[in-house]
Amino acid sequence: MAYDFDLYVIGAGSGGVRAARFAAGFGAKVAVAESRYLGGTCVNVGCVPKKLLVYGAHFAEDFEQASGFGWSLDEAQFDWATLIANKDREINRLNGIYRNLLVNSGVTLHEGHASIVDPHTVEINGERFSAKNILIATGGWPQIPEIPGHEHAISSNQAFFLKELPKRVLVVGGGYIAVEFAGIFHGLGAQTTLLYRGELFLRGFDGAVRKHLQEELTKRGMDLQFNADIERIDKQADGSLKVTLKDGRQLEADCVFYATGRRPMLDNLGLENTGVKLDKKGFVEVDELYQTAEPSILALGDVIGRVQLTPVALAEGMAVARRLFKPEQYRPVDYKMIPTAVFSLPNIGTVGLTEEEAREAGHDVQIFESRFRPMKLTLTECQERTLMKLVVDAKTDKVLGCHMVGPDAGEIVQGLAIALKAGATKRDFDETIGVHPTAAEEFVTMRTPVAG
Ligand code: FAD
Ligand code: NDP
Repeated sequence: MAYDFDLYVIGAGSGGVRAARFAAGFGAKVAVAESRYLGGTCVNVGCVPKKLLVYGAHFAEDFEQASGFGWSLDEAQFDWATLIANKDREINRLNGIYRNLLVNSGVTLHEGHASIVDPHTVEINGERFSAKNILIATGGWPQIPEIPGHEHAISSNQAFFLKELPKRVLVVGGGYIAVEFAGIFHGLGAQTTLLYRGELFLRGFDGAVRKHLQEELTKRGMDLQFNADIERIDKQADGSLKVTLKDGRQLEADCVFYATGRRPMLDNLGLENTGVKLDKKGFVEVDELYQTAEPSILALGDVIGRVQLTPVALAEGMAVARRLFKPEQYRPVDYKMIPTAVFSLPNIGTVGLTEEEAREAGHDVQIFESRFRPMKLTLTECQERTLMKLVVDAKTDKVLGCHMVGPDAGEIVQGLAIALKAGATKRDFDETIGVHPTAAEEFVTMRTPVAG
């Protein structure tokens, strides 16, 4: 049977665009549907605008530290509206680039909400198109628990478009988004509280990293409240929010920002017309080839809930395009040694196993740690300290994990990820000449284990 398209991609986000472009490049007839914004979450309400706001927030400490280097500044003024308008302009530019990327690679772009009518048919804007394969790349959506008053809370989707910087912000959650946005609001001058239900935020990260970030954020004056959860939110006559915690305490805020995870975006997608199955957490279930239970339908990226990171969605998109249209070039995505950064202030950069994971997996571990005051701060009052940590297998000498909290940790860990992926040993690290004077050179000069 002749189909309108070889591949119909639903969602022009990180994974969908990558799969569509590469599939078209391999000679396939491809369409992509997008209901909101080209480039998806990452470009519009994720990685990119977030990083721009993090840069904005960072200026506060740059100004503070400038006097140590002889600079005197009048009192710095910050204007939220300017930052948001400039950010919006940049995002518009990127939307245009994504449009050109798709069109120039021969992909047909359909703008509107797509739904699946049957395993080979997609409906969009009242028109139906047949496709040999359909790729679900619809991403995720913020999930706010339905406590009384949850409608008064915002998520990351709204945070990027607030008209004003709130004076008092309560950020709820202890994952990437909560920690990053707490840093943004705090850096830009809002009185910021981070509220997390567990003992210590960033569950799953190395214990030393979590503790170090806690200490650094506390030093900077951020109010961290752990073992705390909200029972209800009430709007008061003056527009402010009264927040009642489960332990009975009450807090006041002008903005309550929930960052409590993301659900798969499957709204009105028509999955009921297919044999696609969901996993226990509600994400689309796929096998190692991104194949759903419906033979003609594939899925990737945040909607499959494996690793919710843009570079992972990109790698999955590439794998799907190759498998379908260039099988001789197909290589499975390697989910081991995925480097990641939390763009908190200071940053976290990490790759490989945490100390806890390494011990749990039965490795006989050696731990190397370095804690120091970054050189840039020696002429300033700032007491921030950097943490670097290596987790090494004592038997094989292989470096199992690298972890850092400090300036540019995200930049530094990218190079280390290549070394770890190539199987570098501690001896390889030791024999590597440092770049001096940098913070990164500490990773090749740690000689004495702090724990074994
Ligand atoms: P998405 O990028 O979400 O794209 C899905 C697209 O599908 C969307 O454009 C959506 O509008 C569209 N769509 C949905 N349903 C339909 C439909 N029925 N019809 C048509 N179109 C539809 N990752 C990092 O690696 N680094 C970071 O620094 C980082 N920061 C982040 C910060 C925030 C605040 C958030 C929320 C996420 C961040 N992420 C980051 C995660 C990253 O954005 C996601 O992992 C990535 O965007 C997933 O790509 P995707 O292709 O699966 O989905
Ligand atoms: P995460 O899954 O990272 O964190 C969710 C947090 O919310 C956890 O601390 C969790 O607590 C808490 N939580 C969950 N449910 C509730 C609830 N009902 N009440 C109170 N707290 C709750 O999600 P995020 O929303 O922060 O981010 C989504 C994903 O996006 C990330 O996992 C990451 O993959 C990606 N991302 C990546 C970034 C980067 O690369 N820099 C930046 C931003 C996002 P607990 O730990 O107890 O379960």
